[in-house]
Amino acid sequence: MHVIVAGGGLGGLALAQGLRRAGLSVAVYEKDPDAAFRNQGYRIRINSDGITALKELLTPQAFEVFAATAATPGARMSTFDHRLNLVHAQELPLSPDLPGGGHLAVNRTTLRQILLSGLDESVHYGARFSRYDINPSGTVTAHFTDGTSATGDVLIGADGVSSAMRAQYLPQAQVVDAGLRLLYGKVPFADHEDRRAIPPELLGLWTTVVGPEKRFVGLAPVRYREPMHRATARIAPEIELSDDSDYLACVFGARREQFPCTDEDLFAMEGPRLRALTLSLLEGWHPVLADVVSAQDPASIFPVSVRTSVPTGTGPPTAVTLLGDAVHVMSPAIGVGANTALRDARLLSDHLVQAADGRPLAEALHAYEKKMTGYGFDAVRDSAGRGHALVGQDPLPSHEE
Ligand SMILES: Cc1cc2nc3c(=O)[nH]c(=O)nc-3n(C[C@H](O)[C@H](O)[C@H](O)COP(=O)(O)OP(=O)(O)OC[C@H]3O[C@@H](n4cnc5c(N)ncnc54)[C@H](O)[C@@H]3O)c2cc1C
Repeated sequence: MHVIVAGGGLGGLALAQGLRRAGLSVAVYEKDPDAAFRNQGYRIRINSDGITALKELLTPQAFEVFAATAATPGARMSTFDHRLNLVHAQELPLSPDLPGGGHLAVNRTTLRQILLSGLDESVHYGARFSRYDINPSGTVTAHFTDGTSATGDVLIGADGVSSAMRAQYLPQAQVVDAGLRLLYGKVPFADHEDRRAIPPELLGLWTTVVGPEKRFVGLAPVRYREPMHRATARIAPEIELSDDSDYLACVFGARREQFPCTDEDLFAMEGPRLRALTLSLLEGWHPVLADVVSAQDPASIFPVSVRTSVPTGTGPPTAVTLLGDAVHVMSPAIGVGANTALRDARLLSDHLVQAADGRPLAEALHAYEKKMTGYGFDAVRDSAGRGHALVGQDPLPSHEE
């Protein structure tokens, strides 16, 4: 069985790793011109679903590198008001069998480099998927915008939030603006002194500080246990990783109408102006928060428009399906978008292996979609519910099918 994957992000590459381990033939088509294109070096929290999926999909050495290069931020989730009075704190349960007790924080670039390891021959860059045809023989042909095409037994759409695969496969599916804009940035922890300047109660797994009109600041430290190159030299010298330094992820968020500019202006702003804009929206907040935002590296700041899918059904089974943000993109309110994409990759890998072993392909894909849309759209609803209650995300449209 030859599997074609459109999109080489976290979910698509994790699937390719699993299929390769199982001995299936796989080719990934990614629109970016190369692996290092775009700044993708932000913090991603990986929970027990994500860790369990990676353990199954990656080679044992690559999984060991993943675990060694992830930060272990503990399990404390806290909410403060803008004067830094504690509103709520909880210790999440630990899974003793998993690294970090099931709570890890990784650099997305590092995770992607690990997911790319060993796939050199299978990943094709500069290939923007545009549409597919189901052939009379039952095979499927993917077409790319440069006029080239690729044919396989099954085609997986792992092409993220603006999925071209979804547009063709599930034309009724909607992705809507959730009403929030986020400014992501990093505060470098150059030395121990930088860390000591920040109260330790703000340095748990994730801290949300919510102020007037539900504006908020999210804080999460990323502290590595050893340099990347030392981990790879010890475990798997063939895996090449860029090094990274410790930092505090610092996200400002608010409803779009609270920004004194249009989206067009916001997305055209450079880091120093984005940082000044954040500071202007934090007037009257505890001075520690202004200090933290002032210490953001301007080059690290970028805006994000929060979007969410609207839960929907899937069509009759064919030789194509979707995974990750392409089908169930969600707001970051519970921090599980990537974890759900990795869970999909694990589930789909299992089902494709069953199909390669003789289970009818349409039946295997249908069984995958039933489970995936169940937990995936539950996560979309949970994220929207929490995002609405805590930071004013728009509720999901009521005409959800
Ligand atoms: C700043 C930020 C922080 C986040 N933090 C967390 C977190 O802490 N925990 C968490 O669980 N989730 C987090 N997420 C969400 C998470 O990153 C996504 O849910 C996850 O990356 C989805 O994986 P994916 O493979 O479905 O899509 P992606 O990783 O987005 O990959 C899609 C890939 O498809 C490619 N592509 C797009 N269109 C085409 C096309 N037409 N043809 C070919 N290739 C195409 C893209 O270039 C990309 O490489 C965060 C997201 C952001 C932006």
